[in-house]
Amino acid sequence: MKKLDGQTAIVTGAGSGIGKAISKKLSNEGAYVWATDVQEGGGKKTVQEIHESGGKADFLQLDVRDADQVISTMDLIYKSSGRIDILVNNAGISGNPAPVDLISNEEWKNLLDIHVNGSFYCLKASAKYMKMQNYGRIINMSSLASETSLQGFAHYAAAKYALLGLTETSAKDLASYNITVNALKPGIIRSTLTDGILAMAEERIATSTPLGKIGSPEDVAEAACFLASPDSHFLTGISIIVDGGFRLVNEMDKVMTEMMASTN
Ligand code: NDP
Repeated sequence: MKKLDGQTAIVTGAGSGIGKAISKKLSNEGAYVWATDVQEGGGKKTVQEIHESGGKADFLQLDVRDADQVISTMDLIYKSSGRIDILVNNAGISGNPAPVDLISNEEWKNLLDIHVNGSFYCLKASAKYMKMQNYGRIINMSSLASETSLQGFAHYAAAKYALLGLTETSAKDLASYNITVNALKPGIIRSTLTDGILAMAEERIATSTPLGKIGSPEDVAEAACFLASPDSHFLTGISIIVDGGFRLVNEMDKVMTEMMASTN
């Protein structure tokens, strides 16, 4: 018997990176996974890989910015599967880095539309069914950018901070229906979203990470699977940082290392 046998999971942005790894992990644990993505190619590939490893999954095209499409997608999934146990609000983009006064209004709105509005639409539409079955696990993909902020990414950080507000308030609103709402805050994780930054600074980031490596999508999937499973039943409104300790590092560490080297 696997942890998620008989459960139905929905993952947004499942066509690549973290969403793909989460879809595969939830499937490995027995869930029927509805892998959704704005584009077909990646999402269908995720489903194909799940089928090849003996899991159960389907693809649905879903742009999380479209509130009507979100409702019809959740309805379709519920009609087909008879349950919605797990929602992973993962879809996202990073936006282009720029000083705050140079970020265009269009890009600002798009970032908030995908991360915040999209997560809200999906949460709302799936909570309707989770309430009926008196069970649910909702996971919002925030970021370390909501812990430390990130220069040049005011739009991204604002969206990821907003997801914490959504997580904490909806955790209270939905608790009496046995629905938990939690967040993940990954650090720098290897994916298309971080291609640019890793091309510039991979070694620097890996060596300044206490656990000594760049995180993988699978590292995030492990934490997501825990929050998605019945094992996390007494956790709600929290966020788990998946960063190998990266957030703890600061300039004083270098000073202290030098000081200890000179005195020992
Ligand atoms: P990827 O770019 O690899 O994956 C993001 C996925 O979201 C893509 O498949 C993309 O589709 C999809 N997507 C984009 N816009 C929409 C939309 N409107 N509707 C539905 N799907 C959409 O990035 P990651 O896997 O790295 O990121 C996944 C999540 O994790 C994001 O929310 C990101 O902010 C967060 N995160 C990532 C970190 C990292 O270091 N990688 C760190 C912290 C948080 P397509 O590519 O087909 O357009």
